[in-house]
Amino acid sequence: MAKKIYFTPGPSDIYFTVEEHLKNALKEQIPAISHRSKRFQEIYAEAESNLRTLFGLPNDFHLAFTASATEVWERLIQNCVEKESFHFVNGSFSQRFYEIAGELGRTAKMAKADYGSYTPIGEVAIPASAELISVTQNETSTGVAFPQNEIEQLKAAYPNALIAVDFVSSAPVSNIDFSKIDTAYLSVQKCFGLPAGLGVWFYNDRCLERAKALQSKGQVIGSYHSLLKLHEGGLKKQTPETPNVLFIYLLGKVAGDMLSKGLDRIRIEAEYKATVLYTYFENHPLFAPFVKDAGARSKTVIVAETGQHTAALIDFLKTRGMVVGSGYGPFKDSHIRVANFPTHSKESIELLVDTIDTFKQ
Ligand SMILES: *Cc1c(COP(=O)(O)O)cnc(C)c1O
Repeated sequence: MAKKIYFTPGPSDIYFTVEEHLKNALKEQIPAISHRSKRFQEIYAEAESNLRTLFGLPNDFHLAFTASATEVWERLIQNCVEKESFHFVNGSFSQRFYEIAGELGRTAKMAKADYGSYTPIGEVAIPASAELISVTQNETSTGVAFPQNEIEQLKAAYPNALIAVDFVSSAPVSNIDFSKIDTAYLSVQKCFGLPAGLGVWFYNDRCLERAKALQSKGQVIGSYHSLLKLHEGGLKKQTPETPNVLFIYLLGKVAGDMLSKGLDRIRIEAEYKATVLYTYFENHPLFAPFVKDAGARSKTVIVAETGQHTAALIDFLKTRGMVVGSGYGPFKDSHIRVANFPTHSKESIELLVDTIDTFKQ
């Protein structure tokens, strides 16, 4: 069967170096090694060190491996919120985190923006009782990128709250200033181009202090994956459970490849490819970018209004070897979503645009 190009916004095409790393991992029998071995500690240390460098993590930041970003939502509430959290909601993923806080018995409040936009920070009065403020940097369901300068205002305006950033589908393409936030998290099936099933949680000392304080008050902060257990394990380059050793290995390797390529180059390419896609949709007689405010358009997940043509267009592209995402939630039948991740080459994006151009209604 001919190989397809997956432009789906996660899982997506694997990063182009993964195949070789996977072969090497099998040759080295990585899936067979003990997670308590010295070899595993080396794998952990390599992944940690490459991620630290790639993201330019400050010294008061740490990282832990989780099952996924969804897990981090639950852990953040358990470890960092006693009573109340606040959420900027502008799509299905930000909404889901808000719901999880409620499911865990917290008072969750939100500022909800219309789909396709975001709520500017200055337009909401967040209650002083909010212990954590959540922003989704890249709303994968709508293709809205929360502007960086907006996110950076939060810390000064709400110094007592922890600032949590979901950059699952934009990291490391998005540029984040860690000194202006307290925690951020991602899943590896988005921009890192790895198989799904591994999350990375970045957290600073303030998050650790909060978890300790809540635990000493008798709050349940989770069992094997409480922030404190994860952190304790990380200091020994170990995980509390038997982790997906193979994926941690692959993540370390891909992060290393991205470092060698250079994040600047990856970002310039992302910008270029996003411009090709947005310009194309802007000039199309039937389609249009869903996000109207050009300053809030995601560079990594491009969402286009394709209306009644959606199903036919998706099928048309599939028969030509290209898989794009359908719309999310209420937009399932009226949008397409195109991933513009580091593994998607300029040529593949140009091929996609040229192929859409031959689509006849
Ligand atoms: C994909 C995604 C998630 C959830 O990731 P999982 O790996 O399914 O846990 C959360 N937030 C955003 C913005 C996402 O794109």
